[in-house]
Amino acid sequence: TFSKSDLLKSLPSQFFASLVGKVEKVKAEGYDVINLGQGNPDQPTPGHIVKKLQEAAANPVNHKYSPFRGFSYLKEAAAAFYEREYGVKADPAKEIAILFGGKAGLVELPPCLLNPGDTVLVPDPGYPDYWSGVALAQAKMHTMPLLEENGFKPDFSSISTEEAEKAKLMFLNYPNNPTGATADLAFFKKTIEFANEHDICVVHDFAYGAIGFDGKKPVSFLQAEGAKKVGIEIYTFSKTYNMAGWRVGFAIGNESVIEALNLFQDHLYVSLFGAVQEAAAAALLESQECVDALVSMYETRRNILVEGLRKIGWNIAAPKGSFFAWLKVPEGYTSEQFSDVLLYQAKVAVAPGIGFGTYGEGYVRVGLLETEERLREAVERIGDLKIFK
Ligand code: PLP
Repeated sequence: TFSKSDLLKSLPSQFFASLVGKVEKVKAEGYDVINLGQGNPDQPTPGHIVKKLQEAAANPVNHKYSPFRGFSYLKEAAAAFYEREYGVKADPAKEIAILFGGKAGLVELPPCLLNPGDTVLVPDPGYPDYWSGVALAQAKMHTMPLLEENGFKPDFSSISTEEAEKAKLMFLNYPNNPTGATADLAFFKKTIEFANEHDICVVHDFAYGAIGFDGKKPVSFLQAEGAKKVGIEIYTFSKTYNMAGWRVGFAIGNESVIEALNLFQDHLYVSLFGAVQEAAAAALLESQECVDALVSMYETRRNILVEGLRKIGWNIAAPKGSFFAWLKVPEGYTSEQFSDVLLYQAKVAVAPGIGFGTYGEGYVRVGLLETEERLREAVERIGDLKIFK
């Protein structure tokens, strides 16, 4: 056997792998677990996108290596999509990089831009994969608390000048995983001012960009004036088009960051399977009715969960976007203890907030990722718990 490198050993442990293990154990005992703990969309990819993949897979052009940095038609489709959806113009050749899913881009960015010891500003609670890239770059993490009283936005004025000056990179994510919070252009404007003042590169993770509730379409970071000067946005097909298994996304924005990403990826990959690129371009360019239907599906699910839990006496806040609800746990429990109560007694799996960072303590994350009927059943099972009687 060979030992692991110090670098590999320095990576954060995968908290959610142990959660999956717990859920699987309860299932193996024969229980029907309603799994709201994971972030995997439950619906299939829309048929027209699958059909495009099937056709494109038969084309020998796609059996060869696709060009380094991907086919230009996909980057052109991404540019057209941003212009149509957000009124944002981008040069497909210089301001867009194709990614093997958002996660790959997010993890690749710190090693692309940082030297060991550099500081990264990371939201807490936040998507844990930000930590992985920071560790790979042997960089340092400075957490930005996302507090409920600030609408789960970081308060830049609470970051000391010394820390701000050390920071080279900042991750942000709205609609937010895990809190379900959304951002507006005024917040992004403040972000850009802060980034300019301290020379920080902003990476806005727009994984849930399509999913905003109550008729409010989430805003893109690039809609804020001057955004491209200070950063990029990461877009993924995983959630918007239920393509999580396909591993495709793109980065858009600052030319020097896009070039760094592309250069790094030249060393890792050639490019995505051409048929995936063709189907991804079709997803962006063809009818978006599937996206409208998806948003209303999640909104209906959200309403069932929020209204249901309020009825049983768990007074929770409604998420504004993403497909997660972020629920304050009843007093007297840690997030892990309460997740265990839900799993072992109600047979409903949720994600304990502590898995997303220190400031996630006191909350659990509930995914709107089972059918209406199953969500109603989950509410009923939770309502039967002694603490809600
Ligand atoms: N960013 C956030 C906040 C996420 O929740 C996810 C997936 O769960 C991703 C990025 C990564 O998405 P993908 O790698 O499937 O594009």
